[in-house]
Amino acid sequence: MVTANPIAEATVPTEALEPPWRFNLFARWPWLKRLVRMRSFQFLVILPNLFMFYLFIISALFGTPVGNRNIIIVFVWILWWFMLIAVLVPFGSRIWCTICPLPFFGDWIQRRAVIRVRTGKSPGTENSFFGLHKRWPKRLSNIWLQNFGFLFLATFSALLVTRPIVSAAVFGILFLVATVLALVFRLRTFCNYVCPISGFLSLYAMTATVELRSVDKDECLKCKSKACIRGSDKGWACPWNVYMGKLDRNNYCGLCFECVKSCPNDNISLFVRPFATSDVVVRGYDEVWKACIMLVLALTYSVMLLGPWGRFKDWANVSEARNWAGFGLFAAGQALLALVIFPGLYYVSIRLAKWYARADSVPTKELFLKYAYMLVPMGLLAWIAFSVPLLMVNGAYIISVASDPLGWGMNLFGTADFPWTPLRPHWVPFLQVPILLTGLYYGLRGLHKVGRRIFTDPAQLHRSLVPPAALLVGVTLVFLKLFIG
Ligand code: SF4
Ligand code: SF4
Ligand code: SF4
Repeated sequence: MVTANPIAEATVPTEALEPPWRFNLFARWPWLKRLVRMRSFQFLVILPNLFMFYLFIISALFGTPVGNRNIIIVFVWILWWFMLIAVLVPFGSRIWCTICPLPFFGDWIQRRAVIRVRTGKSPGTENSFFGLHKRWPKRLSNIWLQNFGFLFLATFSALLVTRPIVSAAVFGILFLVATVLALVFRLRTFCNYVCPISGFLSLYAMTATVELRSVDKDECLKCKSKACIRGSDKGWACPWNVYMGKLDRNNYCGLCFECVKSCPNDNISLFVRPFATSDVVVRGYDEVWKACIMLVLALTYSVMLLGPWGRFKDWANVSEARNWAGFGLFAAGQALLALVIFPGLYYVSIRLAKWYARADSVPTKELFLKYAYMLVPMGLLAWIAFSVPLLMVNGAYIISVASDPLGWGMNLFGTADFPWTPLRPHWVPFLQVPILLTGLYYGLRGLHKVGRRIFTDPAQLHRSLVPPAALLVGVTLVFLKLFIG
């Protein structure tokens, strides 16, 4: 029997939706399949990031404490963040997880190998793993820990993005926890249930223009080996405990491509698909709250960093302003908004939707979960709109720090003295507004799409859409006010 990742498996049927188009990349470019099938593929793509990570730690320990002169701050919080949220997630799903160095040592210890595969009989797999291989507690098999972890880190973001040593400490702790959990628990428990980055990657990967899926689900039904999840002599058991035969969302596939190596029927491929129209099923309260938290954080960050309210910035930046009362107010207000007020507003919009559509027979829970998809593209695009000016205003630091990564006065590429010149700052609103409106468009479109699964009567459908759509438009107006005044 195949026991798959409970998050990936928690099934609300994806009934009655016409499948969007998809384009088989492995069929078009066989070299790509050959590449990801190489046993050394993941090690080779992680290696440069391991080196970068080592450089970041060295620069945090021995480099300048001035944030915008230290590579860990500039490369992680300006370059990496922008690339992740604006490029890698929307166009590559969880491709960051393919190259992420954090689980490297955990994987290495569990497998006692970097490249080769060991066959064996570790429970539920056809591979041999080192470590206790315990199961993660069921009540923690969701993304609540990730929700709280991310909110906690976000509260201290002013410290994180200005103090190299704080950033290094957080990454060091994540490395350590990932490694220790790999010794105790099976597979990538850390990635599935603990990593604070994973929560928003999983949520926003739903919108991505690529997906890894089985080519023919009937083939999976006939398949005896289930090697994609159980592993084989060609590939390790899926580190995310995902069964390809039932995979229908990007959320919990870490794109490690082990299943592509192990599937004996050559039945897995990478597909290109339209943006934000394929995975539209939100499957649990943990995911709804993730969507709310992310949207609220995009809002509070925009207030703090882009708005004219210096007082909020001072409150958040406790290490400089030393205003602990203000910081307490900021932290409590942000948590309240993300965990109670905004989800509460969303709940009210769902109750109104039921009332207005006279949909007494539709369970509130069903509507609450399904309509939450509208927050996914909206949240992603709001984050991109927020991140654009960060790159345009601070991008010049990337060029200077590349030459002098530790702030020691080196000039490796001759660009150390590159002046801080914001890139076309007057263009910022002209970029932010269309990005935000794109988020609104895809949010409303997603809302309509999931609504069609619930209501067959068009009048009832449209009535049910009005309150949540009004909430989404309201959120957009708040962002617009923040971005263009
Ligand atoms: S889930 Fe987190 S630790 Fe795991 S690969 Fe992705 S980003 Fe890295
Ligand atoms: S993806 Fe491959 S290994 Fe997995 S069930 Fe389908 S055919 Fe079998
Ligand atoms: S690529 Fe395959 S093996 Fe890797 S996480 Fe996704 S489903 Fe699992």
